[in-house]
Amino acid sequence: MKKPIIDPWGAVLFKDYQKIIKNFGITPFDEEILSKLPNPNKLMRRFVVFGHQDLERIVEAMEKKEEFSVVSGIMPSAEKLHLGNRLVVEMVKYFQDQGGKTYLLVADLEALATRGISLEEAERRAIEFYIPAYIALGLDPKNTNFYFQSKNEVVKNLAYEFSTKLTMNEFRAIYGEINAAKIMSVLTQIGDILHPQLKKPMPTIVPVGPDQSCHIRATRDVARRYKKYKFILPSATYHKFTPSLDGEIKMSKSRPGSYISIPEDPETAAKKIMNAVDGGRKTAAEQKRLGGEPEKCIVFEIFKQHLIEDDKELDEIYNKCKSGGLLCGECKANAAKLIKKFMEDFNKKFEKAKDQAKKLF
Ligand code: SF4
Repeated sequence: MKKPIIDPWGAVLFKDYQKIIKNFGITPFDEEILSKLPNPNKLMRRFVVFGHQDLERIVEAMEKKEEFSVVSGIMPSAEKLHLGNRLVVEMVKYFQDQGGKTYLLVADLEALATRGISLEEAERRAIEFYIPAYIALGLDPKNTNFYFQSKNEVVKNLAYEFSTKLTMNEFRAIYGEINAAKIMSVLTQIGDILHPQLKKPMPTIVPVGPDQSCHIRATRDVARRYKKYKFILPSATYHKFTPSLDGEIKMSKSRPGSYISIPEDPETAAKKIMNAVDGGRKTAAEQKRLGGEPEKCIVFEIFKQHLIEDDKELDEIYNKCKSGGLLCGECKANAAKLIKKFMEDFNKKFEKAKDQAKKLF
């Protein structure tokens, strides 16, 4: 069986987001939908969010102040996040701030089935690291329903119920090679996404990276077929990956060296930025004459996705780089300063959030 180009369990780069849009029935995220979103965040304004499915439904719910939910998950596979993981937190936070009822699940059953991590270990990692990290990155714990898959009977029961709704051929068509552990994980995830609608059908948004599009597809297929609960098809937003520092593949925890982790020693993070691939020319003289190439620059992408909130400031860097008025050394030193500050702030907030996380369960 041919390996699907989208692999939710792997670390693959999709430079060609247009291809993903075409192949997976995703609607491009364009100016029109952007204009309808209240206070769009920087990822939306800068089209780091490149696609969506039925986002209009969420826009409508926000406009009419109707109930909607936002669902996301934590996979406790290691004890560090990487910078790229932050994007999903920013997206969840956006919808939370707009009134979305927020569910953040710990995928401990999936971690057990697909990575052999015990439930006890997954719980420890979630409470000691992941949940405080998500809080430190901006999630409001008071307005978030945190839960463990293994302790959510409703989700588990739904997973069993949904097992009758997808055939093996459909699993293979969506996921390529699949085994029993992955099937269990997929069914549980479908339960996670749909369970907020059990009491009352309501729009649900799931912000994801493109590697998770298979899960959204499987969930929408099940929701469409399962008439009993009158599910509203879940909506999704798709954001680009944060590229690896060498510009080759996305940041991935499975490839040390390709990423800036969260947390990371601020000095180390700064050094990594200084060594990242840039879009500079061979010599300073050439760069002054021709200008740099921010479109090819990982540092610029990190400014855009993570380090600079103000659009004007980002535009200024872009224009100065393009016109040859900015050299990579100076520019990277600025990025290094900002990442250092980000890590220092994170560390402070993380320490505080640890106590909050313990009180949640
Ligand atoms: Fe990238 Fe900055 Fe160099 Fe331009 S000046 S190529 S944005 S590092």
